[in-house]
Amino acid sequence: MSVNVEAEPDRHAADAETLIFANARQVVTCAGPARGRRGPEMADAAALSGVAVSVVQGVIAAIGPIDELRTTYRDAREVDCRGGVLMPGLVDSHTHGVFGRARSDEQELRAAGLDYMEIARRGGGIHASVRDLREQSEETLFELARRRLMRLAAFGTTTIEVKSGYGLSLDDELKTLRVIDRLRRELPVRIVATFLGAHEIPVEYRTSATARTAYIEIVVNDMIPIVARNGLARFADVFCETGVYTVDESRTILNAARRAGLLLKLHADELTSSGGAELAASLAATSADHLAAISDAGIAALARGSTVATLLPGTMLFLGKSARAPARRLIASGVPVALATDFNPGTSPTPNLPLILTLGVSQLHLSAAESVIAATVNGAAALGMADRIGQITPGFAADLALFDVDDLRDVPYWYGDNRCVATFVGGKPCHARDLGLC
Ligand SMILES: [Zn+2]
Repeated sequence: MSVNVEAEPDRHAADAETLIFANARQVVTCAGPARGRRGPEMADAAALSGVAVSVVQGVIAAIGPIDELRTTYRDAREVDCRGGVLMPGLVDSHTHGVFGRARSDEQELRAAGLDYMEIARRGGGIHASVRDLREQSEETLFELARRRLMRLAAFGTTTIEVKSGYGLSLDDELKTLRVIDRLRRELPVRIVATFLGAHEIPVEYRTSATARTAYIEIVVNDMIPIVARNGLARFADVFCETGVYTVDESRTILNAARRAGLLLKLHADELTSSGGAELAASLAATSADHLAAISDAGIAALARGSTVATLLPGTMLFLGKSARAPARRLIASGVPVALATDFNPGTSPTPNLPLILTLGVSQLHLSAAESVIAATVNGAAALGMADRIGQITPGFAADLALFDVDDLRDVPYWYGDNRCVATFVGGKPCHARDLGLC
């Protein structure tokens, strides 16, 4: 069983015209190996000045002096970058972008001192989003997600992973994945679908150990085969955490997903160090995500393999927690590190991936260049796409983001501001604020 996403032609590049991106103060190419970058490889984002970029049929064709490109590509239309910084489009490799109502009420309850258990007892938390999503029509969910994901695009993001996981029944998970599939076909950004039927144990299966096992059997025997057979997801993911899914349960579910042809991700070691990173490494998962509580053994396990460590510091900021993923130790150990928003209604309702780069620098102690690599090349690696997107290199998709700043360090510096003026996906305008392109 294989997922058909790979075999599809790049619909974003169809009919794309020949372009030259001129007058950028810096072109941050992130050029280098087409895989997750490790250790010192993350330190160099390859910022060039005095160069332009040509794009033919949606693919980067050349990087060089403007006069040379004008001679080679005589019919090209020029895009004036107005002295800004041109970068690979940002890759947000972890979101829960399909949900119904926002949960702003819970933020106030948290501020008033209520803990997660008490908020859940009052009907909040993931289960609130599950009840809500089950009541929403597919059309409503699509329209809400479309608008929200285009907000992510407005901050410079050109590829967005979107998980299911607020359905937690066969019908509601399939409903969510159909919404994601429609987003993938209709939005100007690239969308990558992940099946997260094991986001929580649904309320109706929490009555006994037997009921809990019955839900896991539904995930393994019913949901995963149908999802894979219909090409509705590229990845399967599990929330492996104390009080949610155990390491053994996560292994059972992910092994079934792999047998069905899905690639693997894992929510691991967010709050407690339960062996999630070790499990992700042992299964050669494409990414292990969160990791604020990863153990030394977990770091060593990831360092031996190719799993990308995807860090989500926005959740800790929003929840007001002081825990931090040990980004510097991960990088020093040779683990490829990515940054993502974790965009979701409960713990990280921000569409702003450049703000996450700010947290990468100020909270996780990355350099600006490392934070850029983490949200481009390594985000692409966290989606198994590092051979196609994430760098401005000939042969790569022309997914580009233009920022109204002087230097790549300004992207994490002007925190919370939106300096992105335009994005292109496969050479086509996706989001443009004042270039008059869309
Ligand atoms: Zn998540």
